[in-house]
Amino acid sequence: KNSKFEDTNSFIGVAYIFEDDEWIDELYSYYQKEKITPIIDAIYTKEEYEKAQWYSILSKFRFEYPQPEDDSAYKGITYNNSKFCSSCGCGLVQKDSFRIVKAPKWGKRHFLMLNWVEDELFISSFAKDLLVRNSISGLRFLDVINHKKNIPFDDIYQIYIENELEPGLLELKQSVKEVRNCSICGKAKYIYSGKGLTFRKEIFSNINSDIVRTHESFGDGHICARKIIISKKLYQLIKNSNLGKDLDFEPIVLA
Ligand SMILES: [Zn+2]
Repeated sequence: KNSKFEDTNSFIGVAYIFEDDEWIDELYSYYQKEKITPIIDAIYTKEEYEKAQWYSILSKFRFEYPQPEDDSAYKGITYNNSKFCSSCGCGLVQKDSFRIVKAPKWGKRHFLMLNWVEDELFISSFAKDLLVRNSISGLRFLDVINHKKNIPFDDIYQIYIENELEPGLLELKQSVKEVRNCSICGKAKYIYSGKGLTFRKEIFSNINSDIVRTHESFGDGHICARKIIISKKLYQLIKNSNLGKDLDFEPIVLA
């Protein structure tokens, strides 16, 4: 009754449904019967955004590829790959700057993510200066290197996130569609449900950073990425300064 289904064409449909709608189970069994894999995205109320203290952040502005991209050679140049698992994609540790071929035209956007790299944010120098002026903590800015000329670009920086949370992902059924345990390295990886993440609130109690990464890794196939989580202070700064174009925020639920 509170839900609607838009049949936009024969291949794509969009269903809007409330969390507590009685129709939800019926919808999932319909998907199962028809062998449809739905892409689930939660829509939050203004109150949910206001109430939250922490938010996950992703950029829909995807740009370029890390270099050198052939044979994924960047994995041994930008990262220390001595603990890399080629089965699940986990274990890379950044040791050097990212390299790309060209700089972005930012337009009204100020944040981007590189293709293939699901857990690093890159930022314009305008936004970088604003974060510095407002004493946003828990990060450093790293140069991004012009791969052809071997010199840093002057209008794009990586936000290097200094701190990682303790393990604390909760409500596995609600937050996580599936847990994948790698048979090679033994690491667990989560497939995100799209329905919001819940963490133990204690893991945030001693955090003095405005940006952190989750301990847990997420991603299908070879993607192994931690979620980036920002404080209310940074969230409000981005929103109030109109830097949020093409950024996707989800309120983190603490329990
Ligand atoms: Zn593995």
